[in-house]
Amino acid sequence: MVIFHPVKGKTRFAPSPTGYLHEGHLLSALYVWASARKWNLDVHLRIEDHDQERARPQHVQAIYEDLEWLGFTWQSESVQSRHFDRFQKKLEDLQEKKLVYPCYCSRKELDAENPKNEFGEIIYQGKCFLGARDFSLPHNLRVHIPDKVIRWQDLRLGIFEENPKLQCGDFPIRDRIGQWTYQFAVCVDDIEEGITHIIRGEDIRNSTARQIALMELMGRETPPKYLHHPLIVDDSGKKLSKREKAHSIRQDREAGISPQELLGRVLFKAGIRGVPSPIDLDEALDLICLIF
Ligand code: GLU
Repeated sequence: MVIFHPVKGKTRFAPSPTGYLHEGHLLSALYVWASARKWNLDVHLRIEDHDQERARPQHVQAIYEDLEWLGFTWQSESVQSRHFDRFQKKLEDLQEKKLVYPCYCSRKELDAENPKNEFGEIIYQGKCFLGARDFSLPHNLRVHIPDKVIRWQDLRLGIFEENPKLQCGDFPIRDRIGQWTYQFAVCVDDIEEGITHIIRGEDIRNSTARQIALMELMGRETPPKYLHHPLIVDDSGKKLSKREKAHSIRQDREAGISPQELLGRVLFKAGIRGVPSPIDLDEALDLICLIF
């Protein structure tokens, strides 16, 4: 008798070490680990330090410490800055297929010459695609994506039909100073690390169609499954952000709060629980499994 063992799925938690983790990251982590519980997935912890200008070693260290303090465990881990050879190889594959071109436009030109989408991002109209090429000038590298509607399903929000060509146009995969962009690095790693389920905040939802398009160009035929969760907003209705110095988990720990108290506060702020009283991680994950 042939016994069929389906391949176990894998999700990931992928913070960028450009600041300390805050309540928004904790909510994301809760959704990731709850999804793992619900769909029997392994969890991969990926440190997304592709932006070497902004990543800091003390923030990398704090990610591991804060997650362990909260009680999260994971089956595998990686650090993006150790993948630069992998990124270079994928770039060369795309170059061989003539899907990459240098873009010499300055920030000012980009703003002046291109329309913007509803998120305020430019929709690149392809000026440098046909232009003269001189690699000695400062340039970023853009990927030439097809003009095509991507139909994808969010496990919470339903079906989306989006054409990244109209949403953002050809986008950068390496910046002017030679750093790999988030869009490129995340696609390469999600492929290479065998990620089957991507669980992340709604603020990144508009990146999904372009990432599926790029992954297709890199040969991944079946995209991962996606779930974008609601965000915690501050008192003025804006999402929490590291850059604006959101209150960090580190500060809470130093102030003597327990993991259970912090979890209780986050679930309350996210509107998942009506009271801010302490709760165990295990119970918090069960609760989140019920809402999607
Ligand atoms: N590194 C991103 C962040 O910290 C998350 C990327 C993703 O989940 O695709 O916001």
